[in-house]
Amino acid sequence: MLGQMMNVPLVIPSLLEFAAKYHGDCEIVSKTVEGPIHRYTYVGMARRARQLANALRGLGLGEGDIVGTLAWNGYRHVELYYAVSGIGAVCHTVNPRLFVEQITYIINHAEDRYIFTDLTFVKLLEGLADKLPKVRGFVLMTDRAHMPSTTLPKALCYEELLAGQPDTFDWPVVDENSAAALCYTSGTTGNPRGVLYSHRSTVLHSMAVNFADAFALTARDAMLPVVPMFHVNAWGIPYAAPVSGCKLVMPGPHLDGPSLTSLMETEGVTITAGVPTVWLNLLAHIKETGKRPSKLDRVVIGGSACPPAMMEAFEGLGIRTIHAWGMTEMSPLGVINSPTRKTEALPAAERAAVALKQGRPLFGVDIKIVDAAGEDLPFDAVSFGSLKVHGYWICSGYFRQDPVPAHEEPGWFDTGDVATIDAEGFVKIVDRTKDVIKSGGEWISSIDLENVAIAHPAVREAAAIGRPDEKWGERPVIVAVLKPGASATAEEIRAFYRGKVGKWCEPDAVIIVESLPHTATGKLLKTELRRLYGG
Ligand code: AMP
Repeated sequence: MLGQMMNVPLVIPSLLEFAAKYHGDCEIVSKTVEGPIHRYTYVGMARRARQLANALRGLGLGEGDIVGTLAWNGYRHVELYYAVSGIGAVCHTVNPRLFVEQITYIINHAEDRYIFTDLTFVKLLEGLADKLPKVRGFVLMTDRAHMPSTTLPKALCYEELLAGQPDTFDWPVVDENSAAALCYTSGTTGNPRGVLYSHRSTVLHSMAVNFADAFALTARDAMLPVVPMFHVNAWGIPYAAPVSGCKLVMPGPHLDGPSLTSLMETEGVTITAGVPTVWLNLLAHIKETGKRPSKLDRVVIGGSACPPAMMEAFEGLGIRTIHAWGMTEMSPLGVINSPTRKTEALPAAERAAVALKQGRPLFGVDIKIVDAAGEDLPFDAVSFGSLKVHGYWICSGYFRQDPVPAHEEPGWFDTGDVATIDAEGFVKIVDRTKDVIKSGGEWISSIDLENVAIAHPAVREAAAIGRPDEKWGERPVIVAVLKPGASATAEEIRAFYRGKVGKWCEPDAVIIVESLPHTATGKLLKTELRRLYGG
């Protein structure tokens, strides 16, 4: 017997139309590439998204077509999220920080029909245009006054495209399982792989982002996503904010400490989200000036492990940190750290140790850890194994690719991370499977070693890698960058490990360098580090 409830499809335009109707005067503020601040409301955004939808139809785009974007966090990019998916097409965010060869591969693999680009990336695209045979045209996300002269074929101006278009649009009723957005993972080996999100997965994920034990966005909050819209849809924030009528503050290309703190202050930002490398810069700036954004209440930290020293620094400023873990393949939210009745009652040191874990699954995500034979391991905080996930917003395969081992077990996706899980379901990521240091049969977590180095007062950033060793298989080596003006010798940093980790985990060597290589999404580039310092 079927229930007698309305069968309303979960589709992306409904998020924005809801905000326009019930949170109509809530603002979206963007620092633009052109310079000035742009501000309007969800009513204005919905109006322009409908105009854009009409314009996209005018370009001959429709269901199943893929539209690429190379753009920062800004209002026009959000309009594209809604209009492209809204007409039944697929919004493909391309990470402009990738190598040119990867960008070319991604655009061609996805067969993007049009590319929408911020002015910043016009030169980059000019260099590639003749290698992109499937792209019919380029749209520069600016107005006529700022249109540069360009060699891009059939270059259109975004504002001219919208001008004169009706601001009404009947969003087609698409199947909630149809494709809505596409994002490629920036793997360190092989070609990037496409993750194809559906309307349904995106809407469900948006609701989960809003859970009280997740980002807890409200109509009183102002959220500034530092995490780029080309990295897993800025962790779903442009879809989640309208659900709660949360103000959106978009930093555009201005991601340095001074720009972020000043925008946070003027726009009353209460919550922000990004990877640890971004927070290193922000914290350094706050320390220098002695001023923290006055309304900032919580910072979501994910993408790489949050070092204890970073958590302490934020807490010292009265800013709550929310540690979260996920992946492009998971839309991205998997687990998030929020205290429970039980953990809140723990003594301070134990509470802090729990807060450093990556967190517990949100409703919608199930997790397990398995050993090398694929057997389930207990949730005892000690056993560690490959972390597998299952749920509403987790990919079941890669776009236009044969199944890969990660999807071998039906219903489970192998994340490539090694983790422990405690009895309450708190996950502690030990490492990426590929980065864990295997020494004499013991596994050493590179994350744990990095956290110790960063706690040294002179160290700004550190990476732990395994160096091949005849006797032990691998031995840990630390590559560290010092804080500006600080001094410490390699031997001092090595001595700092004594008593903080097991004797066998102490690094064999510390190498002090000027800077560390990062991936296009701000993570430490371990393959390159091993090449440079692992010999
Ligand atoms: P990406 O798909 O680029 O977002 O990368 C996902 C990977 O980043 C995960 O599989 C983890 O290895 C790593 N990661 C994400 N969040 C965290 C975290 N909070 N702590 C440790 N590693 C993380």
